[in-house]
Amino acid sequence: MHYQPKINLHSGAIVGVEALIRWLHPQRGLLAPAQFVPIAEDSGLILPNGRWMLREACRQARAWQDAGLPPITVAVNTSALEFRAKDFLENVRAALEASRLEPRYLELELTESVLMRDAKATGSVLRALSDLGIKLSIDDFGTGYSSLSYLRQFPINTLKIDQSFVSRMTHNPDDAAIVSAVISMAKALRLCVIAEGVETAEQLAFLLAQHCDEGQGYFFSRPVGAEVLAALLQTGVSPALPH
Ligand code: C2E
Ligand code: CA
Ligand code: CA
Repeated sequence: MHYQPKINLHSGAIVGVEALIRWLHPQRGLLAPAQFVPIAEDSGLILPNGRWMLREACRQARAWQDAGLPPITVAVNTSALEFRAKDFLENVRAALEASRLEPRYLELELTESVLMRDAKATGSVLRALSDLGIKLSIDDFGTGYSSLSYLRQFPINTLKIDQSFVSRMTHNPDDAAIVSAVISMAKALRLCVIAEGVETAEQLAFLLAQHCDEGQGYFFSRPVGAEVLAALLQTGVSPALPH
């Protein structure tokens, strides 16, 4: 498991991490999720895998806190199959209980396609998660089947602007317009907004000018192992950031 920091763009502080799975394959080395997550989904292995991810992410977040590091949120990616599984809520509760992590430090990242599939069933699972105190964010926002009505129906905390918009926004006025519009909409709806895939100082400057709350990307840090992340929590990611 690797962890990539999420940065509060105004304070420069690490406010959370996204847990990203890796597979250390005996012959092929370190594999990225694109090389095995689709297979895990087809074979159903994503279910035990997802349970493990949840437990491990909660355990790690609690371990950092127990080590005296500033408390941060840990975000776990949730695939459609996991979200639809009957025991999903139970697994989330069990992971929180086993780790004794306060629910407000756990975040689930869900894509628009996961949310849109069956609005009624989705709504009740999301409300149950939200009642537990867990944070919910919409991943890859703007790339799926966007139905803006779910933003008022569902208890969403954060919109995560997809990296395809972020990577082009400083060159392409259309992408810039989409990013500013998503940030304004999030503000008006009192949602937190984070930009993913931030790679350059120019992109950061644009996001700061638009008053985007948070950022994540190689400009701040690549996904790193738990020990490196603990060190980053002590030193901060980039002394060049405004404080
Ligand atoms: P995602 O949720 O959109 O995750 C962000 C991806 O962007 C990660 O790729 C991350 O390493 C990469 N990234 C971060 N910053 C930058 C940047 O500045 N530039 C660029 N070009 N890329 C950046 P990764 O780790 O390869 O994960 C790919 C996808 O696999 C994730 O996309 C997510 O959908 C899925 N995934 C990863 N871990 C899990 C997991 O534990 N469970 C499930 N269900 N899916 C996962
Ligand atoms: Ca994600
Ligand atoms: Ca994403």
